[in-house]
Amino acid sequence: MSSEQPSLFELLPGEELYRQEKQVAAKEIHSPFLPGIKVEEAFPGIKEAAPLEELARNCNNCRLRSGCRQVVFSDGDVKSRIMFIGEGPGKDEDEQGRPFVGKAGQLLDKILVAAEIPRSQVYISNVVKCRPPGNRLPNPDEVRECRNYLEAQIRIMQPAIIVCLGAMASQVIIDPKASVSKIRGKWFNRQGVKIMATYHPAALLRNPSYKRPAWQDFQMIRDEYNKVK
Ligand code: URA
Repeated sequence: MSSEQPSLFELLPGEELYRQEKQVAAKEIHSPFLPGIKVEEAFPGIKEAAPLEELARNCNNCRLRSGCRQVVFSDGDVKSRIMFIGEGPGKDEDEQGRPFVGKAGQLLDKILVAAEIPRSQVYISNVVKCRPPGNRLPNPDEVRECRNYLEAQIRIMQPAIIVCLGAMASQVIIDPKASVSKIRGKWFNRQGVKIMATYHPAALLRNPSYKRPAWQDFQMIRDEYNKVK
């Protein structure tokens, strides 16, 4: 018989398996939703929308905050099963502090009315929460910083459906190489969430020929929403 003291930290038979299972479970729970995200950078300790919004309101991680009036975090019902994501706040949104309130937002409202999806029942946000100066496209480094908030919003909200409005949202959420005209009108499934890309309402204002396909997309979105709401 060995006189050696057995290590208190040695695993008993079966414990190794238990440990491995726990690691897999933890990995599954915490696997990122968005492509390219590092889970540890997406505020993993935050479990509710209010402290996440508070954090975003105090964020200075990129140059956009110093050039805008206010952080435009989200609008609507955080408990909604459906989430609409745009690109970033424009002038009107920056002034009013709510996403999609300018011309593009008013068109989105009309489409939602036609689809019989009350705006008050949906959750709306953007890829970047601060207005890029002169409404330029957000730079890749600005998107890289801000998409951590979006990742956390999705983790907290657990929507059943995500609608990507335009190329920026489609590229951040679906595929970095996505082109809306190629991927719109079909459902993608990720981690049990249904994702659809469609044209940004601002694109519909610029190019009315997009209105018909966009309406087809919204009919599919309405039908899916009616199943899950
Ligand atoms: N365009 C967007 O992408 N988001 C807004 O909030 C407003 C206009």
